[in-house]
Amino acid sequence: MNTILLHDEDFISDNRVTLTGRRLQHVLEVHRAQIGDSLRLGKLGGLMGEGRVCSLTSERLELEVQLDQRPPAALPITLLLALPRPKMLKRVLQAVTSLGVKQIYLINSYRVEKSFWGSPLLQAEKLQEQLLLGLEQACDTILPQVHLKQLFKPFVEDELPRIISGSRAYVAHPVAASNCPTGIRESISLAIGPEGGFIPYEVEKLQACGFTPISLGRRILRVETAVPVLLSRLSAEQIMGK
Ligand code: SAM
Repeated sequence: MNTILLHDEDFISDNRVTLTGRRLQHVLEVHRAQIGDSLRLGKLGGLMGEGRVCSLTSERLELEVQLDQRPPAALPITLLLALPRPKMLKRVLQAVTSLGVKQIYLINSYRVEKSFWGSPLLQAEKLQEQLLLGLEQACDTILPQVHLKQLFKPFVEDELPRIISGSRAYVAHPVAASNCPTGIRESISLAIGPEGGFIPYEVEKLQACGFTPISLGRRILRVETAVPVLLSRLSAEQIMGK
């Protein structure tokens, strides 16, 4: 937790908050904060800044806060991710949130196991827990939006053209003839396959919608490895905030 995220209900006045629970434990055990110390924090959906510790017990932390900095710029990448197994989904959600992705579509694909769609992790509040961990890691305050799309064909035919409009659209596919480009300055839409990969029909449907298949080479990477490699190749400068 590199920044403490504040929620509306934490505020006891315009510039004072009280924290309990997980965030208090973190301040006690990791920051080992003392009265007078400053902690980095941000208001969920709003500005970032600092909080000075005014009182601290094992039950409750009170901070005087000053929020005057904008969160880092969003990464202009819309991610379409064939729904991975829950353990991997947690890691990927945290990673892409910390890299600044703000639009995430979890999509179906022939090789997505049906049971994954029944995972409790897909409940809104469970998804938000993972997104918050990504924001806390990267010192950001703006939650990504996660959309669940359980039907591949109608999604690709009816919704995807509008979603990718104005962006460069790529589908990551190990056997693609083109290498993954670097340093793209425009908005990007990026589709990532399931553990077994997209089937040819799905790649064709994405191509018909405007996606170009791109490869990272002969090494087949796990989704959790492929995603940050693809994002950093495509948008390294934006990730670095330049
Ligand atoms: N056997 C599958 C195949 O050949 O497509 C492997 C799928 S891989 C574990 C899961 C997803 O990560 C792929 O569908 C692709 O989107 C992405 N990926 C992994 N390695 C890649 C590579 N070398 N080039 C492009 N994409 C890759």
